[in-house]
Amino acid sequence: MSDTNYDYDVLVIGSGPGGYVAAIRAAQLGLKTACAESRETLGGTCLNVGCIPSKAMLHASEFFDAATNGTMKEMGIDVTPKLNLDQMHAQRRDAVDGLTGGIEFLFKKNKVDWKKGHATFEDAHTVKVGDDTVSAKNVIIATGSSVTPLPNVEVDNEKQIVVDSTGALELAKVPKKMVVIGGGVIGLELGSVWRRLGSEVIVVEFLDKLLPGMDDDVRKEAAKIFKKQGMELRLSTKVTGVAVKGKKATLTLEPSAGGEEETLDADCVLVSIGRRPNTEGLGLENIGLETNKQGQIEIDHDFRTKVEGVWAIGDVVPGPMLAHKAEDEGIACAENVAGQTGIVNHDLIPGVVYTWPEFAGVGLTTEEAIEKMGGDKAKVKIGKFPMMANSRAKTNHEPEGFVKIIAEAETDRVLGVWAIASVAGTMISQATQAMEFGATSEDIAYTCHAHPTHSEAIKEAAMAVQGKPIHI
Ligand SMILES: Cc1cc2nc3c(=O)[nH]c(=O)nc-3n(C[C@H](O)[C@H](O)[C@H](O)COP(=O)(O)OP(=O)(O)OC[C@H]3O[C@@H](n4cnc5c(N)ncnc54)[C@H](O)[C@@H]3O)c2cc1C
Repeated sequence: MSDTNYDYDVLVIGSGPGGYVAAIRAAQLGLKTACAESRETLGGTCLNVGCIPSKAMLHASEFFDAATNGTMKEMGIDVTPKLNLDQMHAQRRDAVDGLTGGIEFLFKKNKVDWKKGHATFEDAHTVKVGDDTVSAKNVIIATGSSVTPLPNVEVDNEKQIVVDSTGALELAKVPKKMVVIGGGVIGLELGSVWRRLGSEVIVVEFLDKLLPGMDDDVRKEAAKIFKKQGMELRLSTKVTGVAVKGKKATLTLEPSAGGEEETLDADCVLVSIGRRPNTEGLGLENIGLETNKQGQIEIDHDFRTKVEGVWAIGDVVPGPMLAHKAEDEGIACAENVAGQTGIVNHDLIPGVVYTWPEFAGVGLTTEEAIEKMGGDKAKVKIGKFPMMANSRAKTNHEPEGFVKIIAEAETDRVLGVWAIASVAGTMISQATQAMEFGATSEDIAYTCHAHPTHSEAIKEAAMAVQGKPIHI
C-alpha cells in the first residue's frame, strides 16, 4: 500500500502503550511506519513513570508490609525486615529499563523507525519532529496525558516536598507524614506504597467517597479497608493551598461544601487529582483540529478525527485513561488505517486498583445498571460472595473483599462484575471475557473453575445471582 508521495504510510506521534502498539501493528500489516517520541526512552507514561514503576514499588513494598504487619509471622516466618530503599528503587529502574529497551527491540524487529524529538503538525500530512520533517499519508496522534496541576499548589519533584506521581515514585527517603491529595487510583496506589514503608498517610478527597467511577459497594468497602490499614481519610474535603517552608509543607483545607478552614502539616504532599490530555505544542491549529472542553481530541468509532488522514487514540481521546484501553485502540486504529475493521468494545474496559487487596471492575456499576433499567431495581439481580468464604483466599490469609455480579433480571445477561480480592486484577479478565461473549450469570455458574482458586468466588457470585451459592 506504500504511497511514494509520502515518507511513510503511517506516522504515530507518541510511543506510549497506544502509540507503540499502533506502530507495531501497522508495521505488521505491511505499512511503512515511523513513531515520533520526545522522551529519551520509548514506552510513554505507562512504562516510564506510570503502570510499571508504580507496580514495581507496590510489589516490593507488599513484601515489606507482609514482614512488618504480622502476616508473615502468622504463616510461621519470623523476620525482622530492614528497608533498603535504594535497592527497591534500583529494581524499579531495572524493570523500567528492561521494558522500555524491549520496545526499542520490538521497533527494530518490526522495522518501525523511531523519530526522536517533539512532533508538531505543519499540515495534516507533514510533521516536524525535532530538526527533521516527516511526511505521512496517515498520522495517528497518541500523545497521552500529563498530571493535572492543582491551582495554588506548586509541584517541585526535585525538592521532594510537594510532588506529583512521577516525584512520588522517586522519593529518596520515607516521609514521616505524607498527605495525598486525591483519593483516586494513583493516589491510593502510591499512598499505599509509602504507608507500607512506614509513612503516616492522610488522604484528602473532595468527594464523599474514594475511587470515583467504581461501584458504590466497592467504594464503601475501600474506605473501610484503607482505614483498617492505617490510612487516615479526609473525605468531602478540599485543599485550597499548600505553602512550603524549609522541609515542611502546610496545607489549607476546608469542607468541600464550604466552611471553616484548617491547616495540616506534612513532610511530603502528593498531588494526584487526575490527568489531562497532551495537545500543547502539537500544532493542532495548523490542521484545523480543535479539542473539546476536556481538552481531548474527538474521534469517531474508527478513531478518525475530523481531519482526513489524522487519527487519535489513548489518553488524548475520550474514555478512561488506561494503558490497556490505549493498547486496544492502537491495534484497532492501525487495522482501520490498513483498511481492515478494527473495533474496541468501550463498554467492557476493565479497571483495576493495584493496592492490597486489589479492587477491580468491568461493565456497569449497580447504580448505572438500575439507571439503565429505567430506575427499576427489580429489573436487576445481584449476586455477592465474600472472599472470606473462598477457600484459597482464607488459606492465604486474604479474607477481605467480595465478588459482586450484576445481571439483568429478565435475560440473566451479566451487566457488571466487581471484585475486591488479592488478585482481583487477574480475576476480572475472566469476567470481561465472559461479558464479551454475552454470558449470563448461569453460564458463569455452570463453568468449571479450578479449585482452590480465588476465581471460584466469581462462580459462587454467579450462583448467588441464581440464589444458590454453595459455600455461604
Ligand atoms: C503513576 C501512574 C500509574 C498508572 N498505572 C496504571 C495501571 O496500572 N494500569 C493502567 O491501565 N494505566 C495506568 N496508568 C495510566 C497509563 O499510564 C496511561 O493510561 C497510558 O500510559 C496511556 O497511554 P498513551 O499511549 O495514550 O499515552 P502515554 O503513555 O502518556 O504516552 C504518550 C507519549 O507521547 C509522547 N508525546 C507527547 N506529545 C508528544 C509530541 N508532540 N511529540 C512527540 N512525543 C510526544 C510523550 O512523551 C509520551 O511518551 C498509570 C498512570 C500513572 C501516572
